[in-house]
Amino acid sequence: MRLSDTPLIDAVRIAARVRQLANEISADYAQSEIVLLTVLKGSFLFAADLLRALSIGATIDFVQARSYDGTNSTGEVHFLYLPETAIAGKHVLIVEDILDTGRTAAAILEHIAALGPASVRLCALLDKPARRVTAVSADYVGFPIGDEFVVGYGLDYEERYRELPAVYTLLSE
Ligand code: 5GP
Ligand code: MG
Repeated sequence: MRLSDTPLIDAVRIAARVRQLANEISADYAQSEIVLLTVLKGSFLFAADLLRALSIGATIDFVQARSYDGTNSTGEVHFLYLPETAIAGKHVLIVEDILDTGRTAAAILEHIAALGPASVRLCALLDKPARRVTAVSADYVGFPIGDEFVVGYGLDYEERYRELPAVYTLLSE
């Protein structure tokens, strides 16, 4: 495996898009306070940047769910960590690194909806619409991409590459 020679999405484009998303989200929620429900681990950098770019009140919490083993989607979703925030009556924005089959997001949406939030929406930095097997779609998308495996800016391959400032395609050789 090796990285693409040039980033698929460079750090400058990521930063600009995160600012745009933060402005859009801040405008949509107006004076409401939101809970950024960060999906661990891949979304931690995106959520940190998004949180700091919002101009509305926001708290942060985390959820960890796993549907992936290496580069293959297994179809099962397990919760490894659940938020400590009392979700009832809160405006929840789920922050995902990437929407692939949509199974993880669907399971998290279902779990959160059952807790009685005032609203729940989904924000994904990256979206692979061609891979979807569920009806889930994101309310906010950073970048739609093709059917390729990407790493960097929080996203890993077997826990590596999260530290990269840009998003790269992982190539099999
Ligand atoms: P889904 O449940 O939508 O199939 O998968 C979502 C999760 O799979 C993402 O949160 C991410 O952890 C992982 N995933 C899906 N596609 C990619 C990818 O291209 N690169 C990386 N690093 N993770 C991915
Ligand atoms: Mg993930």
